[in-house]
Amino acid sequence: MTRKKSLNHMQLDVLNYRSTLDDESVLTLQKLENGYEGELLFDQVLKKYKVQYGLIHVKDFLFEFDGGSKEIQIDNIVISHDACYIFEVKKFEFNLMMDDRNMFYFEDGRECTMLNNQTERQVGTVRQLLSDCGYPMAIHHRLVFINPNQTVYGMKKESPILLPNTMMRFLDNYMKPNRRDYRFLEDALNERRLLRSKHVNFYKIDLDTLRKGVYCKSCSTRLIRSSRYKYSCNGCDVKISTLDAIKCLIHDIRVLNPDYKMTSQFLSRLSDGEITGSAIRRYRIKGDVQY
Ligand SMILES: [Zn+2]
Repeated sequence: MTRKKSLNHMQLDVLNYRSTLDDESVLTLQKLENGYEGELLFDQVLKKYKVQYGLIHVKDFLFEFDGGSKEIQIDNIVISHDACYIFEVKKFEFNLMMDDRNMFYFEDGRECTMLNNQTERQVGTVRQLLSDCGYPMAIHHRLVFINPNQTVYGMKKESPILLPNTMMRFLDNYMKPNRRDYRFLEDALNERRLLRSKHVNFYKIDLDTLRKGVYCKSCSTRLIRSSRYKYSCNGCDVKISTLDAIKCLIHDIRVLNPDYKMTSQFLSRLSDGEITGSAIRRYRIKGDVQY
């Protein structure tokens, strides 16, 4: 399974080209982009072990706990050598400090609360989850700081964190084949997976305030209609068909508000009139798109 961006991340991507983000949203988007890049980098590293040993790797696992009153997301759950490894990946641009109790601080001395509260809660909820699924086992948690230009001062050999220069040795030592078969556990986890967070925003769709046109999924540039059947991107040289352009329009609205009812006319206006309502309707009647 490839790793998808979170809904919140996709929403900001869309709003970034269809409107003007405020400063806070620009920062949030930057953080989400960094985080996503970090995840993809770690996926690449882990892939070798996963393929070689047939390990279970569950990504971006969002689930409820405390009887459904709370939710939590775990970036990576890996079952290796009959134990559970939680890898929480961070791609930070700033250095951190660590004290004797494994507490994190920023360089100016402020406590980094987001890291300090996270580990215990993740281990506790995953422990409960594994035992609910009928697979209680040892759980190991590692924070992975994947950016080679970032460091953690005060880190000791036994600190539960991995840096790019210690990561491979750890994985070589602990990523090993399982003796038992955990495919049922993987299914049981996926049955408990929430499709989206309860806390995600749905945006009010107002065609007058959205920038019109079709935008490139890879680089957010507005695509140019180069012929009746093709759109092309000057930003990254991608070319897509009219059908794919309609899919992009639908994707953008669905991401902003999954409940919004679109019409062919609405989509045509969103395309800035470049695709007619009747053309869009024809694709729908053929079953090529749904909205
Ligand atoms: Zn592009």
